[in-house]
Amino acid sequence: MKIHHLNCGSFCPLSHPIVNRAIPELDRLNLVCHCLLIESEQGLILVDTGLGLEDVRNQERFLPNFIFNKLAKPKLDLEETAFMQIMRLGLNPKDVKHIIVSHFDADHIGGINDFPQATVHVLQGEWQAALNPKDAREKVRYKSLRWKNNNKIKTYESVGDDWNGLCKIQNLVGIDKSIYLIALPGHTRGHTGVYIEHKNDLFFTGDSYLLETQLKSDNYPLPLRLYDKMTHVDLKQAYKTLSQLREIHLKNPEIKMFSSHDRELFIKMMEEE
Ligand SMILES: [Zn+2]
Repeated sequence: MKIHHLNCGSFCPLSHPIVNRAIPELDRLNLVCHCLLIESEQGLILVDTGLGLEDVRNQERFLPNFIFNKLAKPKLDLEETAFMQIMRLGLNPKDVKHIIVSHFDADHIGGINDFPQATVHVLQGEWQAALNPKDAREKVRYKSLRWKNNNKIKTYESVGDDWNGLCKIQNLVGIDKSIYLIALPGHTRGHTGVYIEHKNDLFFTGDSYLLETQLKSDNYPLPLRLYDKMTHVDLKQAYKTLSQLREIHLKNPEIKMFSSHDRELFIKMMEEE
């Protein structure tokens, strides 16, 4: 098994110079979409897709979403899409057999349409939210055109073995047992992490938190608190999940935990791999 760390979408939130000078922490908020490409015996597996070809070619798709378009400011570079990066690695995008998604936010599933042959693995709660968004916040998140080319959706209930107080969902169809889901509710209805037993175990925590600093301590800067409020569907549950992750991180420093958007951590992990 070979693992590649890919940035499939750069963001430059609140990039106004006056705002950035007033709140120096924002300087660190140049974000990435940290995805994994796994070369496995079952073919290529993507863990999240980041932004896709259609996102970059048709920027208007983001216009109705104020948070995404105005606050997150996606760079929209074709070369950053998973599809193009797979080509650059000398691999064939048609060999992507599986996509495991942390959740159905646009910046995590934009590439699903680029791999219509792949089976998409997702928690049942997230799929239900995507199909039947219940309020304005969910309606702005989920747009079925983002997965219109792919009808190979495989869903899983959030039931399984206990893993450090969290729910472990193993036996993903067609995928080796060393790769499994750890449900991380709060950010969205069916948000999940992905665990990969590897030479160093990797634990992809999606959008449970934005920057690694939040994993180290619950005393983190106000802009990050505001971001939590704006983006987590269930803030109380999200904070419960984050405190469980903190405990796991403290007890098991050998597990490499990483979130979707931390740029510094992404660069560090890419260099180490
Ligand atoms: Zn995200």
